[in-house]
Amino acid sequence: MRDTEIQQLIQAETTRQVNGVELIASENYASKEVIDAMANVFTNKYAEGYPGKRYYGGCDVVDKVESIAIDRLKKLFGAEYANVQPHSGAQANAAIFLATLQAGDTVLGFDLSHGGHLSHGSSVNFSGKIYDAQFYGVEEQSGLIDMDKVAAKAEACQPKLIICGASAYSQDWDYIRFRAIADSVGALLLADISHPAGMIATGLLNDPVPHCHIVSTTTHKTLRGPRGGVFMMGKDFENPWGRTTRKGSPIMMSSVLNSGVFPGMQGGPLEHIIAAKAVAFNEALSPGFATYQKQVKANADAMADAFVDLGYKIISGGTVNHLMLLDLRHNLDISGKVADAALGRAHITVNKNMVPFDDKSPFVTSGIRIGSPAITSRGLVEADCVQIVEWVDAVLKNSDNDSMIADIGKQVEAKMSKYSIYPTV
Ligand SMILES: *Cc1c(COP(=O)(O)O)cnc(C)c1O
Repeated sequence: MRDTEIQQLIQAETTRQVNGVELIASENYASKEVIDAMANVFTNKYAEGYPGKRYYGGCDVVDKVESIAIDRLKKLFGAEYANVQPHSGAQANAAIFLATLQAGDTVLGFDLSHGGHLSHGSSVNFSGKIYDAQFYGVEEQSGLIDMDKVAAKAEACQPKLIICGASAYSQDWDYIRFRAIADSVGALLLADISHPAGMIATGLLNDPVPHCHIVSTTTHKTLRGPRGGVFMMGKDFENPWGRTTRKGSPIMMSSVLNSGVFPGMQGGPLEHIIAAKAVAFNEALSPGFATYQKQVKANADAMADAFVDLGYKIISGGTVNHLMLLDLRHNLDISGKVADAALGRAHITVNKNMVPFDDKSPFVTSGIRIGSPAITSRGLVEADCVQIVEWVDAVLKNSDNDSMIADIGKQVEAKMSKYSIYPTV
């Protein structure tokens, strides 16, 4: 039986992805090989547990797949330990919280309204409901994090876990200083590199792995793999709470963290997704991937320069990674919500985003977030980025001119339909 209704929708989504300019900073296009690796009989298999220690029979093949995924991820980031089972980035963080904290413990993360992530202590998320979430943010003038203020905040709230990393911050992170602050209050330090993971893996940004106790990431953003999560440790260490096995030997953090995922958070791992993660990590280890990441950065630079030239304000003044946050209050009189909708009508996809010290609600917002990973995967370079910024500018300045927006939409489609959505490395 062929489900034509869903087949048609897969086709419609493929057409939408082909015809549009994708500027959502958290999205990317996975390779055909990654997509194929997700769609197979591994979805049929239960494999609760870890390679060599499963609760089900018939796991010899999936054991090999999961071990390869773990080894490749460790190699990619120079880590001693990795867990590839989290179903998503938020699940990876939930498992780490569950393994390392008690309900009510204090966590210190980057303010959501300044670009932080839901799973770092939002009041509507498990992380803010179960734990006492405290936040540091950016300075209103500079848009930058003042590390002395992070230190003072940690001193005042005495967190058990400090989180660095964000979803909409266009500068790099001082992991060495974060570690010093964590050590000064006896906290564990987690870096969530969901956004810049691919750039970190290829050496374009500071490396958190030697400095942070734990590093988590999604696999579908700059890493360009299947939708999912993972986490790692640069070096394994004895758990800091003195927990021992029944025989009295110390329990290593690797076991504590593994049990946070299973049996703590999840049942059976998605071995078909883990197979696709392994394929993506192999791609990420290739020289072509480093070339891709350099272009991601060059394209983000080109877009940032073009926006600034046209009078736009980028929070923190520019970008050193793959994304930028525009404060539309600076030069235009429209909200993020209106901007997002108008660009959508021209087949340019962005997301509305709160800017630091925003006076509008999260549903309306004063900003939009823009990223280069997806368009770079399609093969666009700096000159194309300048053209895209000109289109974005024209739409934002004429957000109620339907015929002009429709005309830009036609130009977008004519250009983008020439580029494949399946990257090769
Ligand atoms: C995207 C993101 C996540 C969550 O990823 P999901 O796979 O959507 O759960 C977690 N942390 C940060 C910083 C992110 O940007």
